[in-house]
Amino acid sequence: MTNFTLTEDFPNSEIEFDRRFSNTEACYEYLARIKWPDGYTCEKCGHNACWLSSNNIYICKRCEHQISLTAGTIMHGTKKPITYWFKAMWWFTTRKSGVNAVNLQELLGLGSYHTAWSWLQKLRRCTVRKDREKLSGRVEVDEFFIGGKKSGKRGRGAEGKTIVLVAIERYTAQDPETLNSYWQIGRVRLQVALDCSAYSLETFINHNIETGSMVVTDKLNSYRPALNQKYHHIPVEPAHQKGPESGLYGVHLIASLVKRLIRAALSRGV
Ligand SMILES: [Zn+2]
Repeated sequence: MTNFTLTEDFPNSEIEFDRRFSNTEACYEYLARIKWPDGYTCEKCGHNACWLSSNNIYICKRCEHQISLTAGTIMHGTKKPITYWFKAMWWFTTRKSGVNAVNLQELLGLGSYHTAWSWLQKLRRCTVRKDREKLSGRVEVDEFFIGGKKSGKRGRGAEGKTIVLVAIERYTAQDPETLNSYWQIGRVRLQVALDCSAYSLETFINHNIETGSMVVTDKLNSYRPALNQKYHHIPVEPAHQKGPESGLYGVHLIASLVKRLIRAALSRGV
């Protein structure tokens, strides 16, 4: 299974998407960048140089370990160019008003309806986890706002805005070669909420986070009763914190990605 790092590098519009991902090389370069944000590193020996074969297999120059960036993804073993998959994923994630196989077939010019249908099934399966176990370990929780008038009230309770609650697992992993620690993002839960009351937060947290987990939030008072005795609560000051070391970096990254996706969908007029 190929593991990728979440990135904010996401096109803002269809025009930008088409400009960036019009050829196979650009798509593989993008996958490589999110797989290895600091440049290629061999999983086996830690070497930093590789060959790229004609069928897009990365081969370590030292130990010749091979890796395919599409292995373990829905793109694995596909006969169609990767650009088709990128376009299908863009369309699937940014189109607001429903999706069907006929649309996908037309969009990509696929000869077979069955191919379009099976691609759509694969895309849909990616968005559903059968084992929806609760999040656990160190979990960041926050709320953010979507839409509404720009001139409206700022901050919590802003009128006309949709409130979204977000929870993510974040943990430190260790590079087996350098032994350096780095932050990884785990599972994510998002939910639209009516308000930011203690009741709404408690319902969201109880439903999505395992009792006994460490829950990192900002200092909003509603979190205190919501988390009561069942969680190890770490309230942090979010104002000046930036970067992966920040207590709420993960939820802020997810909020920013969701907003980008919505802006991209709006720019397409869907
Ligand atoms: Zn190697």
